Amino acid sequence: MASVQLYDTTLRDGAQKEGISFSVADKLAITRKLDELGVHFIEGGWPGSNPKDVEFFASAKDLSLRNSELVAFGSTRQSGTRAEDDANLKSLAGVGVKTVTVVGKSSELQVTRVLETTLEENLNMIADSIGYLRAKGLTVFFDAEHFFDGFKTNSGYALRCLEAAAGAGAGCLVLCDTNGGSLPDEIAAAIRAVRERTVVALGIHAHNDGGLAVANTLAAVAGGASQVQGTINGYGERCGNADLCSIIPGLKLKMGVDCITDAGLAKLTEVSHYISEVANLALDASLPYVGSSAFSHKGGLHVSGLAKWAESYQHTDPARVGNRSRVVVSELSGRGNIIYKAREMGLDLPSRGEQVKRLLDQVKSLENRGFQYENAGASFELLVRRAEPDYRPSFELVDFMVVVERRRRLPTSAELEEMLSEATVKVKVGGEIIHTAAEGNGPVNALDHALRKALLQFYPSLAAVRLVDYKVRILEESVGTESQVRVLIESSDGVREWRTVGSSANIIEASWLALADSLEYWLLKQKSDREKGGKEDG
Ligand SMILES: [Zn+2]
Repeated sequence: MASVQLYDTTLRDGAQKEGISFSVADKLAITRKLDELGVHFIEGGWPGSNPKDVEFFASAKDLSLRNSELVAFGSTRQSGTRAEDDANLKSLAGVGVKTVTVVGKSSELQVTRVLETTLEENLNMIADSIGYLRAKGLTVFFDAEHFFDGFKTNSGYALRCLEAAAGAGAGCLVLCDTNGGSLPDEIAAAIRAVRERTVVALGIHAHNDGGLAVANTLAAVAGGASQVQGTINGYGERCGNADLCSIIPGLKLKMGVDCITDAGLAKLTEVSHYISEVANLALDASLPYVGSSAFSHKGGLHVSGLAKWAESYQHTDPARVGNRSRVVVSELSGRGNIIYKAREMGLDLPSRGEQVKRLLDQVKSLENRGFQYENAGASFELLVRRAEPDYRPSFELVDFMVVVERRRRLPTSAELEEMLSEATVKVKVGGEIIHTAAEGNGPVNALDHALRKALLQFYPSLAAVRLVDYKVRILEESVGTESQVRVLIESSDGVREWRTVGSSANIIEASWLALADSLEYWLLKQKSDREKGGKEDG
């Protein structure tokens, strides 16, 4: 089994993505997480380019990394200067790491048109810079920028750049598809050509502009590259960098190339989600291997196949990358989806019984009215529970009233105008009817306050539940203010998160339904936790 070293550049190249701005604390947190994952190298930043990266490297000295080595990034000296006078190289040498990556040009046109220097001077810049850093005792990786484009237009010169780097003692020649437009067979052919000319290790750094960064990376490994550079979730400028979350399982599970431990691989989904949290970017649900939809099944045929044989509609076992299969319930579902989903909740529904048919009919009729259970697993679970003959809800709504009012505090001052909402709620808990009222900054907020006020008397622990997200969608089937409205609510108690749905022609009623489901679901879970733990309510 061949082996490959993983080089993560989320903190440097990945941070170039629009919308990402990592603080030093963010970078330290991500470094710790990447170390847990077990990548070989973590590129921390470019100390010559900004003070934040200098501060990061200073703080990172206190991290005791178990698996990964921190690498600093910089570029070759400027033309017409001496390496020992170059401020960028000096800060790279002094940043306190053992390995550095130096980027230099390897394309004739880039040298003459962009760098505006001679081809010979560029070779000297590469050799001098690497020589200088080697003399300081550092391991140096050479990032050959625009290598594949350069190889296409003038392969002789592109190879001379690599020879200059190798001759100066570079430990790895990293071939870059900087503009991200190469095809896998072009990458493989270029790698093979380089492989024949040098014994120095080769690396691949691919961008995703053609949607091929992962394919290009795997093609490079097949051709002999032994270091792969990429970012978590494919973060990076434009269309991003090669996504390590696809590359790692691709190497290990599909190509049999050793690059990470089984335990590390099983952390991949967690690491992907964690880093998207730190980056404050919603994770694309359809990301291969790690996305929440990567192993979710909606079609009835797929689900019934899956129930018989797990691999029937999955290319790999989701558990190996720390993800899991998920079945979504929708009007497209068959009985199999309902049964599978119920089984996830620990309920065994008989496959031919009336109960399943009734539930399926109910889902279809509710979806007709605008409900959607694909992203509202908690509402679906309540639907199943409510169909059980012995189900007792923790509360029942008798009625509610909401008043929305625009008030002017002083007759002359328009600035003190405010919107006020007040809700009155009547709910039944056990045999008792409770009547409460509360204000809020909007009608839904007021309803939420009034309902909690009523329920907290009976269920004090409900105080832990908060609304994390509230989404309203106008359904296309109808028009204007008469439209059917769907409300999706995401709630959390700090430990678990759940989603509920409500739908109505009235936005307040739709919100109420989703809100009431959210609290009822949580109370149901508390009850079953207690029953499992055999504890009394405290
Ligand atoms: Zn790059």
